Amino acid sequence: MVSMKSLSIWASSLLYATLLRGCSASDSHLGDEHDIGPGLGSKLSNGASIYFPGNAEFSNATARWSGYGAPNISVVVEVANQWDVAETVKYANRHHVPFIAINGGHGNIGTLENVHHGIEIWLHKLNAVAISDVGNTATFGGGVLSVDVINALWAANKQTVTGVCDCTGFLGPALGGGHGYLQGQYGLISDNFVSLEVVTADGELRIVTPTGPNSDLFWAMQGAGHNFGIVTSVTMKIYDVPGDGTWAFESFTFTQDKLEALFEYLNTVGDDGNQAVDLAYWVTFAREEDVDPANPIITIFVVQSNAATIDAEVSESLHDLGPVVSEAHAGPYTSVSSWTEFNLGSRACGKGGPSMIRFPINLKQYDIPTQRAAFNALAKGTLEHPGLQHSTIMLEGYSVQAVKAVDEVSSAYAHRADHLLVSPVIIYMNETDRAPALEFGDQLRSIFHAGSGESELHAYVNYAAGTEALETMYGYEPWRQSKLSALKKKYDPTNRFGFYAPIPAAR
Ligand SMILES: Cc1cc2nc3c(=O)[nH]c(=O)nc-3n(C[C@H](O)[C@H](O)[C@H](O)COP(=O)(O)OP(=O)(O)OC[C@H]3O[C@@H](n4cnc5c(N)ncnc54)[C@H](O)[C@@H]3O)c2cc1C
Repeated sequence: MVSMKSLSIWASSLLYATLLRGCSASDSHLGDEHDIGPGLGSKLSNGASIYFPGNAEFSNATARWSGYGAPNISVVVEVANQWDVAETVKYANRHHVPFIAINGGHGNIGTLENVHHGIEIWLHKLNAVAISDVGNTATFGGGVLSVDVINALWAANKQTVTGVCDCTGFLGPALGGGHGYLQGQYGLISDNFVSLEVVTADGELRIVTPTGPNSDLFWAMQGAGHNFGIVTSVTMKIYDVPGDGTWAFESFTFTQDKLEALFEYLNTVGDDGNQAVDLAYWVTFAREEDVDPANPIITIFVVQSNAATIDAEVSESLHDLGPVVSEAHAGPYTSVSSWTEFNLGSRACGKGGPSMIRFPINLKQYDIPTQRAAFNALAKGTLEHPGLQHSTIMLEGYSVQAVKAVDEVSSAYAHRADHLLVSPVIIYMNETDRAPALEFGDQLRSIFHAGSGESELHAYVNYAAGTEALETMYGYEPWRQSKLSALKKKYDPTNRFGFYAPIPAAR
């Protein structure tokens, strides 16, 4: 580690060498007089640090959940407050060096690979949590993880919507809308924004609210936020935990012959967009040879808030299908991630493993022959291509009642009418399997799309592969596209935030 106090000349020459190595002149205009020591280090707070390749903290800061979608980083600036973020953005602008804010490191859209020799603005020290005296809002630093939000609120008998995985950033999901178990009751994560402190592309720190001078930016941050700024803190609506706060969990493993009956039943649970607000489930298709050596198997977990057991009708219906294994738990919300294996230390939180590409598609309900066709295609592809054998399909069923209750035009999140998040997840170890992985994922998604009966393809931006057309992620309505492009021109005309499903600025 190099602290700001001890940052010395070697750092500036190393940065100069590092940033320029392999860069064309147009990529970077760093020069001797503009090195990172006097140019940036001297402007950062004492709590900030700068790390270079070879340093353990550099490796820690740049470790990724997936090799696919990894930005190429030459220097890490570990910021300690919002002013450090603003100074780093200004520094990067002066020298025409790309920068990217990183928090949980779970983003895996292919467009992140367009960061070449960039500065990583490592947000993890912006981790403060403050609950308001009244207790209906809380302010979180831009570097908190989902687990930080869940635990801090739980300790105060409060809750809000978060992603379901402990180790993703809180804001990474939120800026693309943000799905989670509590959305049926309170809407998307971003529906609960009260105000944001944002460093925009010009390096200015702005307070962004629904009614203030930057209200247009507030609209954009709720669904297209990665394109517009770095959130240094967010104030959110929070809620009292109802009852004694107990959550119920039940998981079931089925062999493939139960597929049709399972999805027919899940269509009744989904109830055409009226799924019970306290109920959510995840289904996964994946190979697990000790259960079925020939075919992928089907697992489902169901969680329910404010309940000691899963609703009897749901639980009994799933048991009646004849699972090969089932398991049940009850306990506080803080335990849910360990039951679902999304807790710190789980495989889902691991970094440096295989590459993963998701091919998301939103659905309204399951078309049963399509479910079978997609399952069979996964079975065939994972058998025929051993390099892709660990690939899966994830099907997420959250309640959408409070999501649909929000006016569709009120935010940049475009797909409120959809009910289900479905994603083939193609997993590979060797770069030689990248092209087949992209092809396989597209093939699986096309099966779901063909069976959906919809002409439009709706893709959740936070799961996107990066190959999708913009309208699939941000909406097909021409007014949405021109509004987003106009806002891009206003707040980021030179596309400094051009690495996460980038929106072109209006001409
Ligand atoms: C295991 C797993 C579970 C997931 N679960 C959910 C879920 O339950 N709900 C859901 O909606 N999504 C979920 N996702 C998708 C998730 O929303 C994206 O992967 C998201 O990009 C992760 O954010 P991060 O901070 O972890 O990643 P990073 O790679 O650090 O960041 C991803 C992008 O977000 C930007 N970003 C991060 N923080 C900020 C900030 N403070 N200000 C501005 N930009 C920022 C980065 O610049 C980058 O462009 C999950 C993903 C994985 C891998």
